[in-house]
Amino acid sequence: MSKTIEIAVFSGDGIGPEITEPTVKILRKLSERASSYILGFTDVPAGADHYARTGESLPHASLEIARRSDAILLSAMGLPNVRYADGTEISPQIELRKALTLFAGVRPVTVRAGQNTPLKMPEGKEIDFVLVRESTEGLFHTQGCGEVTENEARETLLITRAISEKLFKFTFDLAHQRKLAGRGPGRVTCVDKANVFRAFAFFREIFDAEAKKHPTLTADHAYVDATALWMVQKPWDFDVLVTENMFGDILSDLGAGLMGGLGLAPSADIGLDHAVFQPCHGSAPDIAGQGVANPFAMILSAAMMLDWLGFENESPEMRADGQRLREAVEQVVAQGATITRDLGGTASTQAAAEAVEVLMSLEEA
Ligand code: NAD
Repeated sequence: MSKTIEIAVFSGDGIGPEITEPTVKILRKLSERASSYILGFTDVPAGADHYARTGESLPHASLEIARRSDAILLSAMGLPNVRYADGTEISPQIELRKALTLFAGVRPVTVRAGQNTPLKMPEGKEIDFVLVRESTEGLFHTQGCGEVTENEARETLLITRAISEKLFKFTFDLAHQRKLAGRGPGRVTCVDKANVFRAFAFFREIFDAEAKKHPTLTADHAYVDATALWMVQKPWDFDVLVTENMFGDILSDLGAGLMGGLGLAPSADIGLDHAVFQPCHGSAPDIAGQGVANPFAMILSAAMMLDWLGFENESPEMRADGQRLREAVEQVVAQGATITRDLGGTASTQAAAEAVEVLMSLEEA
């Protein structure tokens, strides 16, 4: 008996629709071949372009479809020239994180042998770690409502026990899963600034309490500034890092830089009941409409979605398909023959995605 899984798809702005189309095509083909699951897709409108046409950035109906779905696949939203009256940009992807309490922003950083990276990699080393960014509070707490007077501006950082406890439980469980899969030693590092701010001492105390519940895993701490240094000097030593929203925002772009650019950086925003999977990059309006956008970060995000759905629905087949999809992208990147301009190649979005289909023997379906 196949289980039907409903996915809400936000194809978004700029290059969004160009990278969504080949990604959903691959997922449909995997679903056609699967014996234990069927994927259903519902397109849902939201974003800057939608706001410019209708005055709504995240329609209530779209949010409700997202809420009812089993998972949410999102490309990128926002356009620099479409703004609210207060000058800030339309960003429904951030509203979704808050509306659905998606506290765990999962940002994997992988550099396989042969992959282009600005780092000089020691012989035989690969990078494979995950940064977990708290995604609903921290310094983003007052987003859109910070106080600004003529001479002062104030934003408030909020760390709550309720969210931190969920975040750390999620993070230790993730490290456990990675250890079982042979992808890491089972080490969780709390990245903070506990030497200076009381809020981070509080964050660390809650982390330490969770760590005690996981005696088979290792827990340690690092300051965020030193972590930035080590991400450049010895990123192969990390396993799972967990941090506050703004620190995570910055470190995840550094992670994308290690991978050779945003075009290879996938992400997931996960809560207790919902999850959004989307590339780390934005809508890239400078290359939109040209058919040259890199689809790999979006396809890798879809692979993370299959893995998560497989775990949630106890479907080994879905998890295996997620892993095959990730490995196929990694192989296409390592081969280097069908990569897009941002990675130094000449392939179109379509050709790059088709190379993944060929490796997975999906092309003739
Ligand atoms: P961006 O990530 O869209 O682009 C930065 C640079 O990376 C650009 O040169 C772009 O061409 C390139 N790039 C990004 N993705 C690429 C891909 N898949 N293939 C090839 N090249 C790629 O960041 P930006 O220019 O600062 O932002 C553009 C818009 O996207 C803004 O409106 C911003 O608010 C929005 N944004 C949205 C998200 C999101 O939806 N999660 C994230 C970041 C930015």
